[in-house]
Amino acid sequence: MSLLEEILTGRTDSHTEVFSGGHRVHQKVVQPLTKLKNAAAKAGFDLAICSGFRSFDRQLMIWNEKVSGKRPVPDSQGRGVNVSEQPPQVLIDLILRWSALPGASRHHWGTDFDVIDQSRLQPGQNFQLIPQEFEKGALFGDLHEWLDTNMDIFGFFRPYESDRGGVSPERWHLSYAPLASDYLSKHTLGQLTKALNTSSMLLKKEVLLQLPEIWKRFVINTDPPRI
Ligand SMILES: [Zn+2]
Repeated sequence: MSLLEEILTGRTDSHTEVFSGGHRVHQKVVQPLTKLKNAAAKAGFDLAICSGFRSFDRQLMIWNEKVSGKRPVPDSQGRGVNVSEQPPQVLIDLILRWSALPGASRHHWGTDFDVIDQSRLQPGQNFQLIPQEFEKGALFGDLHEWLDTNMDIFGFFRPYESDRGGVSPERWHLSYAPLASDYLSKHTLGQLTKALNTSSMLLKKEVLLQLPEIWKRFVINTDPPRI
């Protein structure tokens, strides 16, 4: 397997390094992200990553915990569903609205990460990464309004800005366009099939049967950079 294939499917972290807060990002993202963070600080925000690089194994664990009901699986209204009552096809679609398949998460690439305004949190205060927290006037709304007009300058965009019928809109999820666009163009259905074939993923048979449709709807179906 080439290093590129390992990066695209989350089987290495050799392309990443630790950014402030302990989350890993791609080595080539450190500089533009530092510039974005510094500009945000001047505007009064503490831009912090709450989820950066994620490996194949980590994404596999999240997937399997959702399928087995150890982690909540929300429906379209955000209410947790009883996974044992869902037909496999329904469950797969529900999980994919909020979680990527292992081997298909943009978090594997180190180019993508979720950001919040740390200065808005009291010590020990929890948040859920739900759309309501990112609306105008909400907990992280001001930072993201600032990002709306400033992130392009530094090369960042939101691949899940609008609802394209695949992944649910995620205002918190930013991507470094120059690298991520290149990785997206090189991500293939063949690599993903290979990665999942040898994994211990739950609902593997059902997922593999419809992988071409899943790949089109949830992996490559993203908003393009505005720049
Ligand atoms: Zn994300």
